[in-house]
Amino acid sequence: MIVAPERIPVAGPSISEREIELVADAARNAWYKNHAEFNNRFERMLADYVGVSHAVSTPHCTAALHLALAALGVGPGDEVIAPDVTWIASVAPIVYVGAEPVLVDIDPVTWCLDPSAVERAIGPRTKAIIGVDLYGSTCDWARLQDIADRHGLALIEDAAEALGSVYHGRRAGAFGRVSAFSFHGSKTVVTGEGGMLATNDKNLFDRVLFLRDHGRNPGDRYFLNTEIAFKYRMSGVQAALGVAQMERIDELIAHKRAIFGWYRDRLSSLKGVTLNAEPPNTQNSYWMVTAVLDPQIGLDKFALMTELDKRNIDSRPFFSPLSSLPAFEARPRAKRFLSANDEGQRVSKYGVNLPSGYNMTEEKVAIVASAFTEAITRAA
Ligand SMILES: *Cc1c(COP(=O)(O)O)cnc(C)c1O
Repeated sequence: MIVAPERIPVAGPSISEREIELVADAARNAWYKNHAEFNNRFERMLADYVGVSHAVSTPHCTAALHLALAALGVGPGDEVIAPDVTWIASVAPIVYVGAEPVLVDIDPVTWCLDPSAVERAIGPRTKAIIGVDLYGSTCDWARLQDIADRHGLALIEDAAEALGSVYHGRRAGAFGRVSAFSFHGSKTVVTGEGGMLATNDKNLFDRVLFLRDHGRNPGDRYFLNTEIAFKYRMSGVQAALGVAQMERIDELIAHKRAIFGWYRDRLSSLKGVTLNAEPPNTQNSYWMVTAVLDPQIGLDKFALMTELDKRNIDSRPFFSPLSSLPAFEARPRAKRFLSANDEGQRVSKYGVNLPSGYNMTEEKVAIVASAFTEAITRAA
């Protein structure tokens, strides 16, 4: 049996001397009149990179999505359409604002929202749609925007997993009314924990700045809060880490794409294995290399994870449908538009994320690919 000589983790950042330098700089200097300097720089860099006018740094992406919904005025009595297969953070904020999630099927190729399923789920209470760019893939943003426009709905992009991906010439995070990014330690750009909200809508941006600071306008020095709101700010030290990462963004995305290429060279000819898609007119930043097995191979995701674990390799299961989780047991209305034989259920059941951290070299990918090949060949 092929066993990796050293445990291979599934995810992790790339930290250079530059990150350490700027974090030290922030710890020393980002106080007093400079307290917002790194946040401002990080926000500007991200907004420019993505191609939007405004960005707001937050403690995490979950907060950015929460602020997006709150600023759009989504609340009790409203419904928000979201994909059934995603990380729960895409959907939990809908509940935070008192609205109801409505889960719909995903597309079996892109693993993102199926626009036809979205359209079928729209009703009189629908207020917004959250599209998620899963594992670096991108939603069919043209169709989703068209649907949102025709029905007068707000479109939100959860781009937590797709920084650096491109859809029809525009970068992920540039779609819809507002988008959100994550800089959690496993993500493409990291700040430890962290997030960003991005938008071209100046009014929405102003409302977000107000809501994320306990209901007071930027510059208020008298603590005269006019609404009860939230406290969602990122610290300057975290923002400094983000600035250093954004300086290296092209190198980081190139590394992600190289990792995927090394896997593709070794796995794409295997029968019954499908890797992340990159449809025409898109570019995938491959946050996580994901392999979906044909059911005939006889290994579901948890069995495959066990096989990889025995070989000293860490992996992650494809997100399980939210509708299948205990957390959604008491929410039958959230599940009413899901089809029983959704292709997304199959993808989710037989998919794993392979090690995709920045410490991956071609040698390590070769070990994982051989171990993976051995595991599925023995099972077949
Ligand atoms: C990571 C992630 C989030 C949440 O990010 P946090 O920064 O941990 O809040 C949201 N949506 C998706 C799709 C994610 O992968």
